[in-house]
Amino acid sequence: MANDRFSIFKVISEALGGHKGWQPMWREPEPKPAYDVIIVGGGGHGLAAAYYLAKVYGVKNIAVVEKGWIGSGNVGRNTTIIRSNYLLPGNVPFYELSMKLWEGLEQDFNYNAMISQRGIINLFHSDAQRDAYVRRGNAMRLHGVDAELLDAAGVKKHLPFLNFTNNRFPIQGGLRQARGGTVRHDAVAWGYARGADAQGVDIIQSCEVTGIRTEKGRAVGIETTRGYIGAKKIGLACAGNSSRVASMAGLNLPIESHVLQAFVSEGIKPFIDTVVTFGAGHFYISQSDKGGLVFGGDLDGYNSYAQRGNLPTIEDVCEGGMALMPAIGRVRLLRHWGGIMDMSMDGSPIIDKTPIDGLYLNAGWCYGGFKATPASGFCFAHLLAKDEMHSVGTAYRLDRFATGHTIDEKGVGAQPNLH
Ligand SMILES: Cc1cc2nc3c(=O)[nH]c(=O)nc-3n(C[C@H](O)[C@H](O)[C@H](O)COP(=O)(O)OP(=O)(O)OC[C@H]3O[C@@H](n4cnc5c(N)ncnc54)[C@H](O)[C@@H]3O)c2cc1C
Repeated sequence: MANDRFSIFKVISEALGGHKGWQPMWREPEPKPAYDVIIVGGGGHGLAAAYYLAKVYGVKNIAVVEKGWIGSGNVGRNTTIIRSNYLLPGNVPFYELSMKLWEGLEQDFNYNAMISQRGIINLFHSDAQRDAYVRRGNAMRLHGVDAELLDAAGVKKHLPFLNFTNNRFPIQGGLRQARGGTVRHDAVAWGYARGADAQGVDIIQSCEVTGIRTEKGRAVGIETTRGYIGAKKIGLACAGNSSRVASMAGLNLPIESHVLQAFVSEGIKPFIDTVVTFGAGHFYISQSDKGGLVFGGDLDGYNSYAQRGNLPTIEDVCEGGMALMPAIGRVRLLRHWGGIMDMSMDGSPIIDKTPIDGLYLNAGWCYGGFKATPASGFCFAHLLAKDEMHSVGTAYRLDRFATGHTIDEKGVGAQPNLH
């Protein structure tokens, strides 16, 4: 399929012709008996991997197998925040690659993903927290990533309506990354799906993987609700179901599944033109182009595969919002939903080969998985094509929990309950 269907000429001719000539964005092919590469999971990471695998690495015989529909997982459920304001050497180059890919993504896959670099401000409320952010900002700048330290007056210029004099959590300032922002989340899935399809990738929806067949220590195919499909290589990109799918090949991953909720208010006039996070609790907020306030906080704190959350977390998130910006107290909550996310034992992802030949893993994506989508897809494609990790993702190995090379990005100890 041509990848130029959204040219200005096409848009004008369709507008004049009653929009009758648009084609489906991707085909609905029947599964072939076998593929060179099968990617399990049609979320952002799986689709991005297939896209780059075909486009950059020239692999053509690829399928993405998705149990639901494209966009039904976390890629269509998250709070849309992107940033590359990380501290550790294992993380900063990876997330900065992602940011650079975001910056060229719409031109690359010719799709409007509404990428908006409106900036992100992480607030600090104590001297110690300021010191931690100074350190983080310096680490970012040493890696060539933009970072700016704001005092309270500097934050006030961007967000005058915050509660600066809250006795418990006075706002002292913030660390700003101007290139951070938001992206229309499900458009990312649609853009990658359309781009992958245009490269000949088969996107097979409503096809649940129920087993992974191995022969003599090598993965050779997948059992699915639409029959057996053979593969030379199988990549798992199943987000909150990683441990469940990997266990089909006998792997016991250092991952738990957790629910995270997102919230959207009724539409209001333009109010917040950046992303802001509360430093004294867990609360982050931005405003969508439709006017809704999009916000979230902590995960629900218990293991679950249900894509919905519970009331105590709703209360906790709203309390965080009220402490930060009491002005939102009279705005009505319109919708909330949950997604199932992986939580690895150090809160960081895994992109690696597994001990089973031909079986590759892209997992452990939790709070920060959406912003990582382009780099994760790119690095996973590199791994699948070349059998070696891309240089920016070498910290994300599977055996780090056994060898002690865990990634302590938050600096509070590599414990899942703290991430
Ligand atoms: C409420 C919420 C808010 C978030 N906010 C942010 C944010 O602001 N910024 C950020 O960076 N990250 C955020 N995240 C995290 C981010 O969304 C995820 O880490 C990331 O989307 C996970 O990767 P994915 O897109 O590939 O996942 P998914 O879209 O979940 O894709 C995985 C796919 O695998 C499929 N699958 C599972 N099992 C099988 C099977 N057996 N057979 C076939 N297919 C299978 C699923 O159906 C699913 O479609 C948020 C997450 C949630 C839930």
